[in-house]
Amino acid sequence: MATFLPGSRIEIVGEVPRPARIHAALLDFDGTLSLIRGGWQRIMLDLMVDVLADAAPCESEDALRAEARGYVVDLTGEPTIVQMQALADAVARRGARADSPEAYKQRYLERLQETIQGRLDALAAGALSREDLMVPGAIQLLEELARRDIACCLASGTDHDQVVREAGLLGIADCFDAGIYGAVPPPAVFSKALVIDDLRRCHGLAGPDLLVVGDGPVEIAEGERAGAITVGVASDEDHPGRLDADKRAILIGAGAALIVPDLTEQQQLWEYLEAPAR
Ligand SMILES: [Mg+2]
Repeated sequence: MATFLPGSRIEIVGEVPRPARIHAALLDFDGTLSLIRGGWQRIMLDLMVDVLADAAPCESEDALRAEARGYVVDLTGEPTIVQMQALADAVARRGARADSPEAYKQRYLERLQETIQGRLDALAAGALSREDLMVPGAIQLLEELARRDIACCLASGTDHDQVVREAGLLGIADCFDAGIYGAVPPPAVFSKALVIDDLRRCHGLAGPDLLVVGDGPVEIAEGERAGAITVGVASDEDHPGRLDADKRAILIGAGAALIVPDLTEQQQLWEYLEAPAR
């Protein structure tokens, strides 16, 4: 039986040391704050199924889709190239000639670009507001963090330049005084684990001084490993404000202490975090 904070849709899954004294927060971007790339998982999944069907024409589409879902969903939060490496490995395992992960990533980004550009054009033309392209309550969360002087850092598996650009278009780039981190080409390295470790070192944080907010299993699992307070955002990107049951299950599996369908219930969240444990 799920347990909720009274009068809210905030689900309490695990122990949170309270009253919380949070000094820094790590936030994921896509699906957590931004909806500019909403639907990216479906687009990546379709691409992977197409690629696998070419490599294994005798296998059923259902089986290929189930396999591909694992590469997309379980690796959500990792840099895109990691997901594409999993795809290339799956092709090679079947004895087919695999393209490079970079080539698959390029094909994925080409398919995604059409969707993104449509949204950005609508934003520029005023047909969509920035709130339309954000998870409900995202701006309020950033305001609450700023009000508490909590150092904020943005970390995304999307390419760094794109994250910076899209955060700028949403008008939130200045909210991240502890930096914006995205995927970078080798030999530079990026992972959410590294960002969390750096953040803890630079700010001298003990585990529960850090808040991690994300919709992917990677940031939640890394936050949990670091002893942070983890909030899983089980956002339905097609229907903002609704709970995505699949994301919820994955985020709980990754160790999320709290689950929210969106970020609208700020008052209840902070009252809970800042109250002494009973
Ligand atoms: Mg995400």
